[in-house]
Amino acid sequence: MGLQTTSGGHYDVIVVGVGAMGSAAAYHLARRGQRVLALDRYGIPNTLGSSHGITRIIRLAYYEDPSYVALLRRAFVLWRELETVAGERLLLQTGSIDAAAEANWVFEGSVRSCEEHDLPHEVLDADALHRRFPGYRLPDGVLACYQPDGGFLLPERCVVAHAEAAMALGAELHGHEPVLGWEPDGDGVVVTTERGRYHAERLVVSAGAWIGDLVAPLAGRAVPERQVLGWFAPHRPERFAPATFPVFNLETDLGRYYGFPQYGIPGFKLGRYHHRQEQGPPEDLRQPPDADDEALLREAVAAYFPDADGPVLTLATCLFTNTADEHFVVDRLPDHPQVVVASPCSGHGFKFAAVVGEILADLAVDDTTRHDVGLFGLDRLLT
Ligand SMILES: Cc1cc2nc3c(=O)[nH]c(=O)nc-3n(C[C@H](O)[C@H](O)[C@H](O)COP(=O)(O)OP(=O)(O)OC[C@H]3O[C@@H](n4cnc5c(N)ncnc54)[C@H](O)[C@@H]3O)c2cc1C
Repeated sequence: MGLQTTSGGHYDVIVVGVGAMGSAAAYHLARRGQRVLALDRYGIPNTLGSSHGITRIIRLAYYEDPSYVALLRRAFVLWRELETVAGERLLLQTGSIDAAAEANWVFEGSVRSCEEHDLPHEVLDADALHRRFPGYRLPDGVLACYQPDGGFLLPERCVVAHAEAAMALGAELHGHEPVLGWEPDGDGVVVTTERGRYHAERLVVSAGAWIGDLVAPLAGRAVPERQVLGWFAPHRPERFAPATFPVFNLETDLGRYYGFPQYGIPGFKLGRYHHRQEQGPPEDLRQPPDADDEALLREAVAAYFPDADGPVLTLATCLFTNTADEHFVVDRLPDHPQVVVASPCSGHGFKFAAVVGEILADLAVDDTTRHDVGLFGLDRLLT
């Protein structure tokens, strides 16, 4: 098939991977007047990477590290701006719960981030949580940090909104065009795909679970992992509606879980971080969900959300891409500073996509960003 490009194969910036991060980067680059080509190996959007499954949690309370909160405040602003551009609702607020035993990092870290950043929040014990949000039936001794700004994003729609907004500003997007490799070309790059070769001044690599194939230092350091999501029929659906059930993170002896009210498709949705700890190349992690996957999720539904312990309605797989410390990589390559890489996953990256897109555009166009990306340097993974 011949090349069909609007700019003779020369661009300011090429973006590889048009999922959550790449679609946001394409939009923010196009907003700055850059000539952008964004390429994806599959469709735009697709359900083969990390950005599908109807809902993704967004929260300001951030037990992973309080330094994420400033980025989250900006992400909330940018998601709301994107809603205006797209003319549709992308973010629904339900409040967020981070629950665990008092001395656990999920609860403690969440409270700490609220205190450090002066976020409104309440601490509820298991009884108080159940009285306030009856779908929750957590064991005695568990404490919950409730933060009212949290909620969920609609990931497929967010990717579409960023992609369409980028195209409206002149970005060129190609689906079903796998990138085979790239090489430096003076201060710029040449990118080779299954359909041709393209030149650009800068390259953004946001290839999700495949990023290690294109960015050598991340091979073996950004590790794909199979996840399974389950949607279960509630016996008492009124307890699992967006108005009555905040999104949650919960760590107990059984594991660490996250979950959502019913939205978009039927059922109360729940997932378990690092599900069955199945890691490997993305193509080896595609096995459809089975009875063991369901049983692992149901264990937590039965224990903590018994009013939702009805028949399973949907099971779906998705890919995490984990770093050793579970923080992101958003950086320029030391040997090739014209190449910017973004691997915000480790199971918690989606909510940041809007602000990561802005940061990627900063790094590609200005070589620097006003945002604090101190946690996300590549160097830390190489030592
Ligand atoms: C089950 C699950 C639940 C999650 N829950 C949450 C949550 O509640 N909140 C939250 O904030 N985050 C959550 N996350 C994490 C979040 O979804 C990810 O951090 C985010 O989707 C990653 O986006 P990405 O752009 O890096 O990857 P993707 O969206 O997968 O995009 C990468 C793209 O690159 C393309 N690509 C790869 N290789 C090539 C190539 N060679 N050439 C061209 N294209 C290529 C792929 O086709 C893909 O479209 C969850 C993830 C999973 C899997």
